[in-house]
Amino acid sequence: MEIKQLIETLYKEHILKKEEFLFLLEHRNEESRSMLASLARTQTDKIYGKSVFPRGLIEFTNYCKNNCYYCGIRGANQNAVRYRLSKDQILSACENGFHLGYRSFVLQGGEDPFFDDEHMCDIVSEIRHRYPECAITLSLGERSKESYEKLFKSGADRYLLRHETACPDLYKKLHPESMSLEHRKQCLWNLKEIGYVVGTGFMVGAPYQTLENLVDDLLFIEKLQPEMVGIGPFVPHHDTIFKDEPAGTVELTTYLISILRLMNPHFLLPATTALGTIDPRGREKGIEAGANVVMPNLSPVAVRKDYSLYDNKICTGEEAAECAGCLGRRMNSVGAFLDFCRGDYR
Ligand code: SAH
Repeated sequence: MEIKQLIETLYKEHILKKEEFLFLLEHRNEESRSMLASLARTQTDKIYGKSVFPRGLIEFTNYCKNNCYYCGIRGANQNAVRYRLSKDQILSACENGFHLGYRSFVLQGGEDPFFDDEHMCDIVSEIRHRYPECAITLSLGERSKESYEKLFKSGADRYLLRHETACPDLYKKLHPESMSLEHRKQCLWNLKEIGYVVGTGFMVGAPYQTLENLVDDLLFIEKLQPEMVGIGPFVPHHDTIFKDEPAGTVELTTYLISILRLMNPHFLLPATTALGTIDPRGREKGIEAGANVVMPNLSPVAVRKDYSLYDNKICTGEEAAECAGCLGRRMNSVGAFLDFCRGDYR
């Protein structure tokens, strides 16, 4: 196999066979990296130009009933300082964001039973009522199909649920017995069936993860056909069993962003906060590799440090307005700009 040829095939046909994807990952080098990134950027520019869509992220609760072994806010972590934003606090985060220009809000949280359907639908309908022109994305983990339906009817239009890893064995090493990959995947299919614009994704460089596992992730994404794919490096958290594991790399994460871009030039691909955490120019590098979304934080500054999924998370100190300014300049430094619109899938 010839790596250049594989990249051309991927560019033209948007898919490779399992062993070809593996070759592309195993034999990556400086040349394949720059070839992939430049084709990926070309494809992004064709569909989205130099726009990067900002999503205002509101991390509204860090209570969680789950226990994902890698995550700093897992339920069993006694050291996590827990918080919940009130409906009013969530609404004022949206208001603040709206005035800064945001037309897309993401409500993300741990799996917090306090936010049952009644609570959640009430919040979503109020945001929908106040901001009819804005996109509302939810990222609340696994819920029943009925619950997803109710939230959709209340006005949510998008849902983010990373599958985390498409390999059942690896999934078991990263999650307790009570959680299952099958259930998580079923949630994704349910979300699609209901009509959400769906985002999935995975961590890069998670403990025990192999390149084969990453190929399985790509193939699962090909099957699911989501509109968004969020990938970011694994970053250790000091209160987890993986505290001494190495973080994923910018190099492999951006390589995979480029591959995803060639798989579907229309994908909405975030340059994630985790990427910006392991490298001060991580998000810029993500954009250069073909990403076109960023997710600046709109949560009140007082709680930001407590939404601690991993160590050294960036942007926990600045006000929302400063974040938007800083990110805007960062995007400009790589020839892109923050495009304050809903940022729909084209
Ligand atoms: N409860 C929601 C939101 C989870 S937090 C849900 O289940 O979908 C959002 C994402 O952060 C997760 O999907 C996971 O991929 C990522 N994440 C969690 N811990 C991480 C870590 N230590 N390093 C990098 N990413 C992490």
